[in-house]
Amino acid sequence: MLIKLLFPRGFCAGVYRATSALNAALNKYGTPVYVYHEIVHNKWVVDYFQQKGAVFVNSLDDIPDGSVTLFSAHGVSPQIERQAQEKNLRYIDASCPLVQKVHREAKQFVQQGYSVLLIGHPHHDEVVGVQGEAPDKIFIVKSKESIDSLPLTAKDKVAYITQTTLSLDESATIIEYLKSRFPNIVGPAIKDICYATQNRQNAIKTAANKYNQNKKNVKAIVVGSANSSNSIRLKEIALQHGIPAVLIDSPSDINPDDFTGVDVVLLTAGASAHEYVVKQVTEYFQSTFNAQVEEERTCEENTVFPIPSMP
Ligand code: SF4
Repeated sequence: MLIKLLFPRGFCAGVYRATSALNAALNKYGTPVYVYHEIVHNKWVVDYFQQKGAVFVNSLDDIPDGSVTLFSAHGVSPQIERQAQEKNLRYIDASCPLVQKVHREAKQFVQQGYSVLLIGHPHHDEVVGVQGEAPDKIFIVKSKESIDSLPLTAKDKVAYITQTTLSLDESATIIEYLKSRFPNIVGPAIKDICYATQNRQNAIKTAANKYNQNKKNVKAIVVGSANSSNSIRLKEIALQHGIPAVLIDSPSDINPDDFTGVDVVLLTAGASAHEYVVKQVTEYFQSTFNAQVEEERTCEENTVFPIPSMP
């Protein structure tokens, strides 16, 4: 068995920034540090920080007034920021700069009089936060059906923006459909789907195409949690390219029977999955299947975001 360790994989610059900020806050203020929503959508990372004294909440009502609080990488709506100010929270905004960019675009389009179509998953933290910039003017769309049911006509002034972690191919299809329904629609100058999402998707797509042609028994493993948008997309892309794929939080999720007779395992990880777990998975295959490990790189990544300032 050969493990092809795809690169880029795992932590992106936004996740490094958010997790570094939480580590810095725990070091500076001690425990507890409250975190509004999961710091990133990854079970291993959330468990790790819980053990260090972080307290994750889904409502600011659950945080005592004046406490040190961190906003997750997915960002928050202006309403949540106002509520944090009213509660005198000492908050650190660890939202990814690329998510903040989508907030700015939404605000600018609304200020220019556009109705804004936000392509994304309705209940995702990032999408909820961006829609909060102007709930009456921002409509979430995720399919042709949701576009057809919009209270807008072709004559309306319409703009689109996207969640950062969508599938490149699916969002391209939706944007094409939007252009057919709203010929004058405008979009952001630079794509909203972030560099890390694009690079991880391109890596699995390239490997899937390559190893599919070899007629070998190939499977894919994505290290990531079931609520991680970008991890789910990686699994979907492998499946769309004919490679059976599983999404796992840890080696304990692997059923060895599923990998008996497999020649090549394409191993990748979502942008919120820690490299420690990837290492555990490779070690599992080395000890259980005597697997060889080779890295397969499709591009380099140099993006770094400085950590946010502490209050
Ligand atoms: S996946 Fe992209 S948008 Fe999300 S935290 Fe990472 S770099 Fe930022």
